[in-house]
This record gives sequence, structure tokens and C-alpha cells, in this order.
Amino acid sequence: MNEVKRPRKPLLYYYFVVLICLMLFNMIAMPWIAEQQIETVDYNTFISMTEKKDIGQVSINTQENVIIFTDKDESAVYKTAMVDDPDLTKRLYDAGASFSGEEIKQMSPFLSIILTWILPIVIFIVIGQVMSKKLMDRAGGGKGSMMFNMGRSNAKIYVKSSDGIKFDDVAGEDEAKENLAEIVEYLHDPGKYKEIGASMPKGILLVGPPGTGKTMLAKAVAGEADVPFFSMSGSEFVEMFVGMGASKVRDLFNQAKEKAPCIVFIDEIDAIGKKRDGQIGGNDEREQTLNQLLTEMDGFEENNGVIILAATNRPESLDPALTRPGRFDRRIPVELPDLKGREEILKVHAKKVKMADNVDYNKIARMASGASGAELANIINEAALRAVRDNRRYVTQEDLEESIEVVIAGYQKKNAILTDKERKIVAYHEIGHALVAAKQTNSAPVQKITIVPRTSGALGYTMQVEEGNRYLMSKEEMEDKIATYTGGRAAEEVVFGSITTGASNDIEQATKLARAMITRYGMSEDFDMVAMEVQTNQYLGGDSSLACSAQTQKIIDEKVVELVKKQHEKATRILLENREKLDELAQYLYQKETITGEEFMKILNA
Ligand code: ADP
Ligand code: ZN
Repeated sequence: MNEVKRPRKPLLYYYFVVLICLMLFNMIAMPWIAEQQIETVDYNTFISMTEKKDIGQVSINTQENVIIFTDKDESAVYKTAMVDDPDLTKRLYDAGASFSGEEIKQMSPFLSIILTWILPIVIFIVIGQVMSKKLMDRAGGGKGSMMFNMGRSNAKIYVKSSDGIKFDDVAGEDEAKENLAEIVEYLHDPGKYKEIGASMPKGILLVGPPGTGKTMLAKAVAGEADVPFFSMSGSEFVEMFVGMGASKVRDLFNQAKEKAPCIVFIDEIDAIGKKRDGQIGGNDEREQTLNQLLTEMDGFEENNGVIILAATNRPESLDPALTRPGRFDRRIPVELPDLKGREEILKVHAKKVKMADNVDYNKIARMASGASGAELANIINEAALRAVRDNRRYVTQEDLEESIEVVIAGYQKKNAILTDKERKIVAYHEIGHALVAAKQTNSAPVQKITIVPRTSGALGYTMQVEEGNRYLMSKEEMEDKIATYTGGRAAEEVVFGSITTGASNDIEQATKLARAMITRYGMSEDFDMVAMEVQTNQYLGGDSSLACSAQTQKIIDEKVVELVKKQHEKATRILLENREKLDELAQYLYQKETITGEEFMKILNA
């Protein structure tokens, strides 16, 4: 899109700075420039020039003990040190020199004006432009930006342009698009709504995890409606100086009202819209900014054509004042894409790169379960990079599968040297997970097992593939999943009789799941359907806080341990029952480093 910055009005302050600089220039730089034009000669030359009558103006400076003089046609200026010469006056008189008391003009008047006035002005304007541009580029700006733009918002205006993002570029997210289509309709023809008396919500909140396309959707609304798009990040409003954020808000809205109908997009609105907790010494600046935003939203009348879209991934932290009717009262969830959505996103991004004909997008989408739109875009790009590295003309299925691992687990760590014993342990550990998963019919089948170390620190991993979309999970499935997590450690115990640090991530995952079963999903007999925990950060990893008495906490802890222990025992039992397969598979993995789900099942069922 064409990004056009509005010209900033120069300030009085700015002129003042230029003036000061100009004076300094004249005092310091000009004499220096003049000095450069004077040729220093010895006294002999001076005498011989006077004798030849080749001399024009002369100025005697007794203080500095120098004589400055020109030749006959005043084209060159010379300087010489003065010696004690009683005949000086006579000599000059004979030579016909003119003794003007004033300084000798060394330059033509025209050049002198250029050098004294115009050049410095040009220089300082250029410096000013460069500096203020640099400061503007620094997001948010700091102390410096105040000097040049005095709180004027850095909002960019995206003038309507044909290469703008359209709804078609945002794959999946059909519900969100449907919701936003109404806004597009409204922006096309606000009058239609005004006639009936219907009013559009002023503010719409896009909520969802990072990288799901919230920014894209906002841009797409502007693109579809063919209206200007102002965007600003919440954190940009929070300035170093109290009051700057508020003035930026004011400015942004002034600009928007001028350009209506238009879209104003505020990213990370939680940065300014956090609940005001009334703490002493709270963030004054943020509160002022928020207040200004609320005032602006209340201030503009219905149907004026300015629609504010805001994005956040922590909606629960927003101040209720912000979400009340008349402000951001409409909320559009932008969730992680489901299987179909992932496939579509992959296809949208695949259009930009050369793909082999036989790429199975569905399989890639299944492998990348839980990935966001941004991660999927990244997977396609990684695959393209891999193809280039291998000197291939197009991206293959293999590139894509490898790049999923890169995005999920990091690059292969080529130089990590594991001892033979360690490799063996890792192989058994991974086969342990896979075997326990495969033997419990409810677990998703294994896609791939590898013991190539990754930069993320994983020494190996078992990749599972979901067969379709799952919206519900039964208690048994959750238990099986915990058993699968414990399968790695169980294999180490069964085979080596000792345990390693390799299971820390498994332990974390198993605990999280077991805890959720008890405190949130009501899956233990003791607590029935009582929530012991509330989730606070749904879109960012899902922190939760306990909401129960200390005694209950103690019981919960015991229940969690009991649950995990039971599944761990189950996993150990499964492995003991299949000890031969475990050895055979681990041996195979140890030799091959990477095996596919098919190879795994073939050996298991042989
Ligand atoms: P958010 O604002 O939700 O954090 P963005 O809109 O900035 O996410 O998305 C980041 C990038 O991820 C986009 O530039 C795009 O390449 C990709 N992306 C995310 N979601 C989608 C989607 N639904 N369809 C296509 N690309 C997507
Ligand atoms: Zn493990």
C-alpha cells in the first residue's frame, strides 16, 4: 500500500533553532571560510608588489600585526606579517594603493550572500529533516520526537490502493469475515444505515491468539471498503512523557475524522486499555491515554463513518469502561485455524512460491496441528528456503514436512554429539512414547519419530498427527494422553533401570493436563462440577489462578499426583507387555535416526 505521511507544520521552536545556528555559523564558520581564501606571502613579496604598483586595497591590522592586501585588479587577497617598516606609508602612497580603513571584501557580494545566509539555511533544514525522520522512524519516539512533532501521532495513512489486502488473502476465519462484511457494507454506504436509523458499533474488538490474522483482517476491511486505513499500536501511545499519549490519541482521531469514512486500527489495545486497578502510583500516562480514547469515542457522533478496530490477545485484562456499550461493544473472535482453515492458509501462502504438483496440503495441515496463521506462513517460507539451499526449482512435500519440524522444534543441530549410550536412551525414550500411544487405541497415530537433536534443545521427538478436527476430549482420552507423556520415562525405567533429565517437558505437560482435568473439567469424583481454578490468559499459554481454600489445594495436589502416577504405571505395564517390540523398534530407530509412522506400524504389527 502507498504509505503517505502528512507533512508536519514546522514549529516556531524549529525556526528559533535555525536562527541560533545561523548566527553561530556567521560568527565561527564565515571567518574561517574567508581565511581559506587568503594567500599568505612574505614581506618581500609585498614590497616587490608595491614597487611594481601591482596593489589595490590595503588594510593594516596593528592588533594582529598583519597586512591584508589585494593585487591591482582585486582578484586575489594576500596576507603578510608586518615588520617594523617606517617607509610603509610612503611606499603604499607611491604604489597608489587605497587605504580604506574597513576590511577588505574577499568575495563577490553574491557569493558572500549565498555563503552567509542561504547555504546555512539549507544545511540546517536538511539536518532537521534527517533528524526528525530518524526520530519518527523509531517507533513511538521518545524525548527526541517531542522536539519535532510535539505529540503529533505517528499514525500512518494507507491511502486506498489496488494492491491492498482483501478478504480473499485471509484464509479460514470465515466467521470473522462474515462479521466484518457488514462493516464493509456500512463503509460503502453509511447513508443507507442513517436513513433507517441503525447505527454501526463505533468500536470492534478482534480477540484471539497472536498470529491469527487480526491485523490482516483489519487491513482487509479497509481494502474491501476502499477507505483509508490508520493504524497504530497500543504501545506507541504510551510515551515517556505524561500527556503525550493522550495528545497522540486526539491527533489520530482528528486525522481520522477528516478522512472519514475510514478505518482506525489499534493493535495491542491492552497496552493502554488495561484495567485501572486504582493502585497508588499507577501508570498515569496510560490512564490519561485511555481516558482520552474513551472521550474521543464518546465524542464523535453516531454514523460519522469512522470505525475503530482494535486487536488484543488478552481480552480479560481490558478495562470494563472500554468494552461497555457505545465503545468496543462488539467482539469478534479470531481463533487458531482448524484443519480446514490451516489447509486454506497453506494454500494461500503457497501461491507465492513454486510448489511441486504432488504436495499434500491436507497432510501438512494435519501435521501442523495447533499452528497459527503466522506459523503456517513461516512453514511455507522455511520450505522455500530449504528448496533454495538444495538447489531445487520448487518446493517438495519433504521440504514442507521438514520445515514443520523446524518451526516447531528448531533447526537440526548438526554438531551436537551425543554419546552412544545417550543416543540409545533417547531412542528408547521416543519409542516409549510412540508405543504407549499406539497401544492405546484412543491415541492419535504416530507420524514420525526422530532422534536428531534440534536447536530447541529437544534430543528427539515423536510427532503425532490428528486425523480430523477434535472439539471434545473424553476423560479416557485425556488419561491416555497423560500415559503417552509418561511413556518416555517409563521406557527408560523398564530398559535401563535408571532415569534421566530428558523427561522434563513430558512431566510439565502431563502435570498441566492432569491438573486441568481435576480443577477445570470436573473429571474427579471428589470435586464434582466445581471449578477450582479459573483460566486467566486464554490466548497466551493459558495461565490459571487457583480459586479454592488452602485445604482444597492440598487435596488437589494429591489428586494430581495420584492421577499421573496411575497413568505412569499403565504406561510401564504396556511397555513390559511389549518388551520385545520395544527393543526391536528402539534398535531400528537408533540405526536409522528417523522413522516414519508407517515403518513403525509395520514393525509393530509384524
Ligand atoms: P495478528 O495481528 O493476529 O497477530 P497478523 O495479522 O499480523 O496476526 O498475521 C501475521 C502474518 O501471519 C500475516 O502477515 C500472514 O502472513 C499470516 N497469517 C495469519 N493469519 C492468516 C490467515 N488467516 N490467512 C493468511 N495468512 C495469515
Ligand atoms: Zn519425552
